[in-house]
Amino acid sequence: LVVIDHVDKHFGELHVLRDITTTVARGEVVVVIGPSGSGKSTLCRAINRLETIDSGIISIDGHVLPSEGRELAKLRSDVGMVFQSFNLFAHKTVLENVTLAPIKVRGLSRKDAEKRAMELLERVGVANQAKKMPAQLSGGQQQRVAIARSLAMEPKLILLDEPTSALDPEMINEVLDVMVGLAKDGMTMIVVTHEMGFARKAADRVIFMADGRIEEEAAPEAFFNNPQSPRAKDFLSKIL
Ligand code: ATP
Ligand code: MG
Repeated sequence: LVVIDHVDKHFGELHVLRDITTTVARGEVVVVIGPSGSGKSTLCRAINRLETIDSGIISIDGHVLPSEGRELAKLRSDVGMVFQSFNLFAHKTVLENVTLAPIKVRGLSRKDAEKRAMELLERVGVANQAKKMPAQLSGGQQQRVAIARSLAMEPKLILLDEPTSALDPEMINEVLDVMVGLAKDGMTMIVVTHEMGFARKAADRVIFMADGRIEEEAAPEAFFNNPQSPRAKDFLSKIL
């Protein structure tokens, strides 16, 4: 579904992505880990062209990402994105947050969009909050709304960049549970996270990045029990 082929990217002098090559199959759950500054967020952002790349190819479902225009908007709507900061529209209700894009971009009627939004809010466990404003919700609830909002566009792929990093510890699990549910339902996911429990439970593959490179790529079992590269061993010894 996603093909990343020899991708390089610089920020000025800084070489943030170095010869990144990997693929993500439909239904696959890939967890990306690595030290701060290793390029994880940049890679996620490059996948839906929030960031340009210097060379190489990124394609989604056989379409190479164009750099702009209507076609980019279409491809981007195939890719859901959930960030560390929830980025909900502060002046819209929870329900409106989830219905806005389907109405505006997909042309759904308000009635249909609301019906579907309520199903999604139900699925992530916040249907009873639909009429509230985002600021009235806990961080965990807001992040679950953000996930529902991205699902509302029926994306082919969801990118989650440290979705639980800004949450208080007691709210992390409610968001991880939703993510595990999505993974079980066959959603294609690329997840940057420090939650190794999630990686062990839900990931098909772990990608370990360091200094803009993919240092190691393996099934979670193999990666956690028997990391190969010195960088990965060092990283795991610090976080596990
Ligand atoms: P973290 O775990 O801290 O989120 P990361 O692996 O997501 O780190 P990136 O955010 O991808 O790392 O950043 C990779 C490198 O690129 C870092 O050195 C960062 O300072 C730099 N960088 C990121 N965005 C920009 C930008 N817009 N302009 C210049 N440098 C940037
Ligand atoms: Mg990051």
